[in-house]
Amino acid sequence: MKKSTNFILIIISLLFFQMQSKGQSAQCATDFIHNNLMQTDSAYRNQIVTLESQVEAITPNHANNKLRSTLNTIPVVVHVIHLSEPLGTGSNITDIQIQQAIAGLNDRFRNVNGLGVDVELEFCLASKDPNGNSTNGINRVDGSSVPYYSANGITPTGNPCSGAVATAIKDLSRWPVSDYYNIWVVSEICNGSFVGYASYPVGGLYDGLVIVSTSMTSNSGTLPHEVGHGFFLYHTFNGDGGNVSCPVDTNCLINGDRVCDTPPHKQSDCGITNPCTSLGVWDNSQYNYMAYCPLVNRFTQGQKDRIIATVMVAPRASLITSVGCETLGINESRSSNVFSVYPNPAQNQINVKTNAKLLGSVYIVYDNKGKLVLTGKINSENTVIELGNLSDGIYLFSVGENLKQTFKVVKE
Ligand SMILES: [Zn+2]
Repeated sequence: MKKSTNFILIIISLLFFQMQSKGQSAQCATDFIHNNLMQTDSAYRNQIVTLESQVEAITPNHANNKLRSTLNTIPVVVHVIHLSEPLGTGSNITDIQIQQAIAGLNDRFRNVNGLGVDVELEFCLASKDPNGNSTNGINRVDGSSVPYYSANGITPTGNPCSGAVATAIKDLSRWPVSDYYNIWVVSEICNGSFVGYASYPVGGLYDGLVIVSTSMTSNSGTLPHEVGHGFFLYHTFNGDGGNVSCPVDTNCLINGDRVCDTPPHKQSDCGITNPCTSLGVWDNSQYNYMAYCPLVNRFTQGQKDRIIATVMVAPRASLITSVGCETLGINESRSSNVFSVYPNPAQNQINVKTNAKLLGSVYIVYDNKGKLVLTGKINSENTVIELGNLSDGIYLFSVGENLKQTFKVVKE
C-alpha cells in the first residue's frame, strides 16, 4: 500500500514538474532600460505615470472584484534577425518553432497546464500584412551587416554593452505598433548577458519585445515573461532595489509590482517561505512568470486585472481591433490565381481550388494556438478537406512551396 502511494506521488510530482516552464535562465533587461528612461526621459516618465493612473483607476481594489473580460486576440509579427545562417540553423529558427512558441505563449496566457488563472488574452501570428497582403506573420532579415551584431548581438537602448544599436536592428524590419505586437528574435543580447526584454506600453516606432532565438520555444518561460512586461506587468520582486531589500508594501496597488495577490519578495528569494512576508499566497510569487525563480507556472487574478486594464487603454487598445489576423477574402489574395479556399466560414468541409502547379503539394492546417491539426496533399485542382472532427474556431491553412501561402479559415 505504501509503495503504491509513493509511486502515485512520484507520478504526480513528475506531471507537476512537466507542467511548469523553466523560468528566466538569465536576466531580462527590461528594468535596466525602464529605470534609465524614467531618470533621463521626462516624456517617457509622464507616459508611464499617466498609464499607471489610468490602469489604477480601472483595476478593482478589492480582491473579490474582478475585471470582466472577453477573449481578446493580439496580432503578432515576428522578425527573425539572423546572422545569414541557412533556414533552421542557429538564429534563423524555423516557422514551425516560431508557431510552436506562440502556441506555448497562448497555453500560458490561457493557463492550459498551469496553476494560475486564464488571462483570456491570446496571440495570433498576423495573416494580413500592413499592405493588406497575405502573410504568415514571420519576416526574416539578415542582420549580419549591422555593425557589432554578429559579434555581440543587440544592445538594448542605454546599455553600455558593445552590440548593435537596437534601433538599427529594429529598423531592418518593423510593422506599425498600433496594429501588431512586434517580436524581434535575435542572435544574442549584449553578448549573452540577457535572454529578453520588452517595452512597457508606450507605443512609438520601436515598441515590442526582443528575445534570443534559443528562448523562442514552446516551453519558454521567457516569452510569457516578456509579453507580461509588454502588457504592463512588473517583476514580482519590483522595488527590491536589485535584490537588496524587501519591497515597500503599504498599499499593494501602488507599491511593488502594483498587484495585490503576489506577495512582495526579493529577486533571489525562491524558497519554501518568503523572508519578506508571511502574508498572501507565496506560490503566486515564487511560481510566477514575472519572477526569476527556476520554475514558473502562473499569472494571477491581480495580474490578469492589470493586463485587461492595460488592454482597455492606449496604446494597446488598438491591437484588439486590429485586422492583422483577419481572413483574406478570396478576391483579396494576391495569389488568388494560384489557390483559393471556400466556403469561408466553412462547416464540415472546405474546397481548395488550385492550378496544376500546386498538384502534389503538401497542405497543413494549424489551430489558432499553432497546433498542427491536419495535413495532406493537394491531389486535384479541387481538393475537398474534411473539417468535421475539428471544433469550431479559427484555423490557419498553408500550402505551396515552403508553405508560404497562408489562409485563415473559420469553422462554425
Ligand atoms: Zn523581466
